[in-house]
Amino acid sequence: MTVPEPGRDIGATRFSKQERFAPLGVEGQKRLLASRVVVVGTGALGGSAAQNLVRAGIGRLLLLDRDVVEPSNLPRQVLFDERHARDRVPKVEAARETLARIGGPTRVDIAAVQLDGSNADEWLGAADLVIDGTDNLATRYLINDWCVRAGVPWIYGGVVGAAGLVLAVLPGRGPCLRCLFPEPAPPGSLATCDTAGVILPAVAAVAALQCGLALALLGGDPGSPPTPRLVELDAWGGAVRQIELAADPACPACAERRFDFLERAEAEQPLVLCGRMAVQLPSAGRVDLQTMEQRLVGLGGEVLRTRSALVWRRTGHTAGGTPLELTLFADGRALVEGTEDPAQAQAFFDRNVGR
Ligand SMILES: [Zn+2]
Repeated sequence: MTVPEPGRDIGATRFSKQERFAPLGVEGQKRLLASRVVVVGTGALGGSAAQNLVRAGIGRLLLLDRDVVEPSNLPRQVLFDERHARDRVPKVEAARETLARIGGPTRVDIAAVQLDGSNADEWLGAADLVIDGTDNLATRYLINDWCVRAGVPWIYGGVVGAAGLVLAVLPGRGPCLRCLFPEPAPPGSLATCDTAGVILPAVAAVAALQCGLALALLGGDPGSPPTPRLVELDAWGGAVRQIELAADPACPACAERRFDFLERAEAEQPLVLCGRMAVQLPSAGRVDLQTMEQRLVGLGGEVLRTRSALVWRRTGHTAGGTPLELTLFADGRALVEGTEDPAQAQAFFDRNVGR
């Protein structure tokens, strides 16, 4: 028996099982290779989705995420390991590192940014499909507005506890997010991953359904796209339910074509990150990480620099005994960990980095 050398003939056989799957076939596999997908959020859902899409042979993948890896991510966020958490590596950088080890034909691009109304055209503009890997309603409503306006499909995914929701939003064919929920629920009114926790099987199930729909949309017969339905699942009880929905003729987004969330300037406000003991401070313009590294080294403590961020740890700065830690991104955003008080985070930033 001849054992093939590693790396040889992978190209010829890599996708043979997928190509044998009749709804995809050889032509469908080619369509996947010609497709461009943007995954917004590269944590639990987005990380699982990105792995599915790279293994499936999507042509181009753009990963967006505003955050760094931290230890409580590791039970669910499949692209990250302990080193990433220890060094607070930006999630998109850690994700690309892991995805590169899988290999294959996918070109993976990354950006450590906060998606908002001012940059949505730049980051979503080339997408054939957008996958929701976020954990917050503000970004989902922004994606919905942008995709409905541009006529680009996107796939919503939500997970809390063991429960999950999935909906493919196909503009012009079926409901959008605002048809279902016209306004985001007020902060604090919904169970979140913070209040109800979350388990990986629910994340993996939702990401798998999102990616199945993605492969069908991008690689399946263009003449028979999937029917948009809300899917509700319970990964603890093992139950899945489909809910038939129609578009709302009074929907502010897809009927009235009012795109409120693209116009809001929320990115200019400090943002308390759900369950992170962290505050994100808005950007006042791009920063030169090398210059800033020298400055922070001069202030003492430990500084780690990656391609898109600097992490600064210095003992002595604490909020009620919790050490404060600063991550400065090249796009000018800052993340202050160890506090949920925006004023304290801003003061810490101003004192050490300045404006
Ligand atoms: Zn709608």
